[in-house]
Amino acid sequence: MHSSVDHFIAGRRRPGTSGEHFSVTAPSTGEVLATGILAGPQDVDEAVAAARAAFPAWSRTTPAERSEALTRWADRVQARSEEFAAVESRMCGKPIRLTRGFDVPGTIDNIRFFAGAARHLEGHASAEYSGDHTSSIRREPLGVIGSVAPWNYPLQMAAWKLLPAVAAGNTVVLKPSELTPLTSLMFARAAQEAGIPDGVINIVTGTGPVAGQALVAHPDIAMVSFTGSTAVGRQIAAQAAGAVKRVHLELGGKAPFVVFDDADLEAAARGAVAGSLINAGQDCTAATRAYVQRPLYDRFVRRVTALMDEVRLGPVDDPATDMGSLISATQRDRVASMVDAARAAGATVIRGGRAPGGGLDRGAHYEPTLITGAAQDSAIVQQEVFGPVLVCLPFDTDDDAVRLANDTPYGLAASAWTTDVFRAGRASREIQAGCVWINDHIPIVSEMPHGGYKASGYGKDMSLYSLAEYTNVKHVMSENTGAAHKPWHDVIFTSR
Ligand code: NAP
Ligand code: MG
Repeated sequence: MHSSVDHFIAGRRRPGTSGEHFSVTAPSTGEVLATGILAGPQDVDEAVAAARAAFPAWSRTTPAERSEALTRWADRVQARSEEFAAVESRMCGKPIRLTRGFDVPGTIDNIRFFAGAARHLEGHASAEYSGDHTSSIRREPLGVIGSVAPWNYPLQMAAWKLLPAVAAGNTVVLKPSELTPLTSLMFARAAQEAGIPDGVINIVTGTGPVAGQALVAHPDIAMVSFTGSTAVGRQIAAQAAGAVKRVHLELGGKAPFVVFDDADLEAAARGAVAGSLINAGQDCTAATRAYVQRPLYDRFVRRVTALMDEVRLGPVDDPATDMGSLISATQRDRVASMVDAARAAGATVIRGGRAPGGGLDRGAHYEPTLITGAAQDSAIVQQEVFGPVLVCLPFDTDDDAVRLANDTPYGLAASAWTTDVFRAGRASREIQAGCVWINDHIPIVSEMPHGGYKASGYGKDMSLYSLAEYTNVKHVMSENTGAAHKPWHDVIFTSR
């Protein structure tokens, strides 16, 4: 049994107009969950028009009104936590333990954070900086935000895009990945039930090249907020440059995981396994490159192998399952071909490196995989795999550790494992990444920003930093003397 995937425009559920049918499938079983018609440019136009029409009233609501609406929204999602967790799990192939413990509570916490943040837009104190004028700062919403999100954490990505925008008084059109639209739609309907006016939040599900492009190129969009791959992000930035649109880019990652020789080996090994296999490795901050100082290296590889052996693959609705499937057979094949290429280039696949058999062969599963002996400049070390694959390499000096950690185009997240405060301090200063964890890898909190350095993009999600990105800063300068001839006019004509 399956349902239909509609679009959500001006508060109404509607089918798409592109004429192109699509289905949302459960990647761990191949079962069809929902079918629909993809959004075309006309649907995007209507969604942008709805957001534009909703903007004047929404932007004039008080911070307290927006805050209260967000609080009710959080309550609606919380009341349906189990349904959100079940749909997200099935649609993505994520174990139910992950969606219950991470995706859904994380989203609820995010809504509650932005309910508070809506009341904390801040600027400078008003003052007479020139002597004769009073200057003040206004923080104003931008208008209609066009958001494009990926498939790896669909609910959380919808939250990260919608919440700061709406909390600051903007209206939004969100295009989720066509692989994973169901929880974004549920999330938007929960906002409607919470009393957020129709048109403030609109969801159009279509492909990147059609609906994504139509949204990015739309003249009535004030800002493009994108999370996805660096390749697509680059294209979007180039396109937005023509219209001087504001762009926010959360792109790929290739997080280093640096283990110094004084580290707690057991903590580091557990951290590496959890940090590389969370969401089957389809996490832009996942641990992907473990650099381990030579004295610990062999023991670390043995311990990680043993812990990976304990990870249970299985049906996503079984609370005992640790790791589900990848998002699609295409993604599984992409991961497999990168591992095969690493093998062909001389790396050693210590464990995994293949799809599991047994009852799992209907789904897009791939075994937890550990690779050693890869060259630093090889694709498996340099490029995003986005699968359950950890590469482990030794290093000798602390200088080497920092140099290797920084030696990819990416800079989203990193971790350093050490009990030495000076090493921890150096790693946090010198590793170029938007987040450096010390003795952990993965945790995020709503109060703190998430975003990249280098080819991982620019702009921050979550935290007050993200709220600021969805506003314009306006300087209002008001003359106080009423004099017709102001002193500065002397540069043009003198007083007479
Ligand atoms: P993707 O291929 O770049 O797609 C992301 C979104 O952009 C999808 O909705 C996609 O639609 C759309 N899109 C594709 N081409 C487009 C175009 N020309 N114009 C407008 N939109 C377009 O990325 P993905 O494969 O879905 O997701 C994985 C990537 O996201 C990884 O690189 C990962 O690191 C990154 N990511 C980053 C963060 C972060 O916070 N930095 C978080 C999560 C994921 P389709 O679905 O039709 O392709
Ligand atoms: Mg894609």
